[in-house]
Amino acid sequence: MAEKEIPFRQIHLDFHTSEDIKGVCGEFDAEEFAGILEEAHVNSVTLFSCGHHGNLYYDSKLFPEMVHPHLAHRNLLGEQAEALRKRKIQVNLYTTIRWNKRVADLHPEWICIDEKGTLQDYKGKGYFEPGFYKNLCVNTPYRDFLKKQFGEVLETIPGDGVWYDAAFMNECCCPACQKLMREQGLDPANKEDRQAFARWTYYDMVRDLTSFAKSYDPDFHVCYNKGHVGYLDKPVKDEYSYFSFESLPGVEWGYLDFPVSAKYMRNFGKECLGLTSRFHTEWGDFHAFRNEAAMEYEVFSMLAQGCKCTIGDQMDYWGKLNKDMYKQIGRIYGSVEKKEPWCENAVPMAEIGVFTAEEFFATGAAGDIPGASEGAARLLTELGHQFDFIDSTLDFGKYRLLVLPDVIPVDEELAEKLGEYVKSGGKLLASWHSGLDKQKEKCTLTDLGITYLGEAPYSPDFIWPKAHLAQGMADGEHVMYDRGTLVEAGEGVRFVQNVMPPVFNRTYEHFCSHLHSPSGRREEYPGIVETDRTAYFIHPIFTTYQNWAPKWYKSLLANELARLLPKPLVKHDGPSTVQLNLLSQEREDRVVLHTLHYVPVKKCKNLEIVEDVIPLYNLRITMEVPRQVKEIYSVPDKAPIPFTQEGSQVFFVIPEVNGHHMTAICFIQENERKKEDLKHEKE
Ligand SMILES: [Zn+2]
Repeated sequence: MAEKEIPFRQIHLDFHTSEDIKGVCGEFDAEEFAGILEEAHVNSVTLFSCGHHGNLYYDSKLFPEMVHPHLAHRNLLGEQAEALRKRKIQVNLYTTIRWNKRVADLHPEWICIDEKGTLQDYKGKGYFEPGFYKNLCVNTPYRDFLKKQFGEVLETIPGDGVWYDAAFMNECCCPACQKLMREQGLDPANKEDRQAFARWTYYDMVRDLTSFAKSYDPDFHVCYNKGHVGYLDKPVKDEYSYFSFESLPGVEWGYLDFPVSAKYMRNFGKECLGLTSRFHTEWGDFHAFRNEAAMEYEVFSMLAQGCKCTIGDQMDYWGKLNKDMYKQIGRIYGSVEKKEPWCENAVPMAEIGVFTAEEFFATGAAGDIPGASEGAARLLTELGHQFDFIDSTLDFGKYRLLVLPDVIPVDEELAEKLGEYVKSGGKLLASWHSGLDKQKEKCTLTDLGITYLGEAPYSPDFIWPKAHLAQGMADGEHVMYDRGTLVEAGEGVRFVQNVMPPVFNRTYEHFCSHLHSPSGRREEYPGIVETDRTAYFIHPIFTTYQNWAPKWYKSLLANELARLLPKPLVKHDGPSTVQLNLLSQEREDRVVLHTLHYVPVKKCKNLEIVEDVIPLYNLRITMEVPRQVKEIYSVPDKAPIPFTQEGSQVFFVIPEVNGHHMTAICFIQENERKKEDLKHEKE
C-alpha cells in the first residue's frame, strides 16, 4: 500500500472536560462540526479518545464506567471520525500517556515517585491544588491498562494516525523503576543513573507503543507529543512517522523555540510539523482568541521552515466550535492551500551549520532551549543567513561555515572531524567555551589559533573595533557585558582584535557610578582572533545577545561573517525584522524564497504580541544562484518579478511584503539551455 500523505493543514482538538460538567456535547452535530472544519480548509484533525481528566469519549465496552458521565453523544469520537473521513479529512486518534487524573486517583500506586518519596507532579503542584499533572509510571501495570484501553479505540474507531500525548521522559523512583534500575546495574539513589533510566524508559515505551499502534494498522501515522522533540529523541526517531513541534509562542516556548527545534530535527529525513494554537496564552485558555496576524505569522513560519501546519483548539464542552475562529483559521489555511504546490517536498537550503547546544545540555523539557542556541538563531535570522542546527554526528560537508556558539565542548574525535572540515575548505566561527575540552582545561580545536589560559581577568571589558571589524560601528569602546576567556593568539593568526579592560573590576573597594567600571583606555588581551578560515570570540556573544540584544554584538558578528562568507546565499536591504528562508524544490527546478515580516512586540508584561501586519515595500534581494534564472514570480498569483542576473548573482525587488511573501525563482532547464545555446551560436 502506498504511504499515506501527511496533511498540511491540521487541527489538534483538545477536549479535556471535567466529569463535573453536565450537558457535554448536548449541542454537538457531527455534520455541522465536520462542515466547519472542511470550510476552514482543514484536512486532518486530532480527536480525543481520552483526555487528561481520564474520561472517555467513545462507547467503551471494556471500561463503560470511564466514559464521561454526562456525555450526550456516547459515541462522540466515532461520530466525529466518521463525519470527517467522509469529507476526506484525516483523523488522528488521541490518547494521553502520563497524565490521567481518573487513573491516578484509582491507582495511586501507578504514580511516579520523586527522590523525596512524594507523588510526582509535572508542574510541582501539591495534592490539593487543581490540575491533572501527576505523572503516571509506564513501568507499572499502568502500561498494560493503557494498551487495553487504547486498543479498544484502535479496534473500533476508524482513524489514519495515532497521537500519543504527554509522553514525557521523567525520572521515577517508584518500586517498579528501582527494581528495573538495579537489574540494569544502575543506582536509583544516583541522579545521573535516574536520568539515564528515564531516557531508557522513554525509548522502551516509544518502541513498544509504536509497534502496538502499527499492529492495528501498519499505515497509521504515529506521533508523540511532550512539549519538545530534539536531540534526546534521536535514538527513537524511526518510531515517529513525523515530528511535531509543540510551541505556543505566548508562554514558555517563545518565538524562537519552534525555528530552533525545526532547524535541527529537519535533518533526519522525517516530515516536520509546527504546532501552535488559537489561544491567547496556552492550552485550556477558553474563550480567548489568537490575533489573526499572530496566527498567520506562526503558520506561515511553519511553511518557511519546510514544515506542515497544526493549530491547536479545544471544542466547547457543549459540542461547538467557534465559527468566527474557524473563519480566521479558514482564511489562513486557505492561503496555505494555495501555497502548497510551492511547499511540497521543499528542502530548506542552508550554508551555515550551527552546533546545537542540546547535544551537551538537553533536558528535553518544554521551552528549555539553551540561550546559546536561541541567541545564534536570533542573530543569524536577523542577518538573513540560511542555517541549520546540527550535531557532531552529522555530515559537515554541505556547509560553508560551522558555528560553535558559546558552550560547545570539543573532544578529540570532534576536533579531528572539524580539522578535516577546515582542511577541505570549510570555515569555523566559535565563541567563549566552544572549542575547549569538557573539563575546560585546554582548547582542543587547534584550527582556532589560540591557547586557552582561563577566564578573562576583567569583566565587563571593552572592544574598540579595528580594521574590517569597525564597519558600521561607532569609533570608540563597546562594552562586552559577560565575562570572556583569556587566550593567547598563536601560529597562523592573521588578525587580533584586542580588548580594553576597565580601570578596575567593580568591587566594594573600588567602583565607579551605577554600573560597570569605564574603560582603562589601553588594549591588553585578545578579544577576537582570526585565522584565514576561522574566527574566535572570547565573549559568549550568542548568549548575551539572547539576553540583551546589543546591536554592536550583531555588527561585530556581521563583520566577521562578511569576511568568512563574503557571498551569502541571499541578502536583503530591509529592516532587522525581515526573515528570509530559502527552500529548494528540486523536482520543479526552482527555489522558493519565503519572506516573513511580522513584528512581535512586548505590549504587556508577560507575552510577545503580534497584532498588526506592517507591510514592507520594495525589498531588494540579492541571491546566489547555481544556474541561469528563467523567471521569477510571486506565489501563488504568479505575478512576474523583473530581475537581472550577473554571473552567479541575481537581483530583484519584491514590490510588497504583507506579512508573508513567497517568491519562486525558476531555472532554465538543461534541455532549454541547450536550445538557447544553439540559438546563440546561429546568431
Ligand atoms: Zn516508576
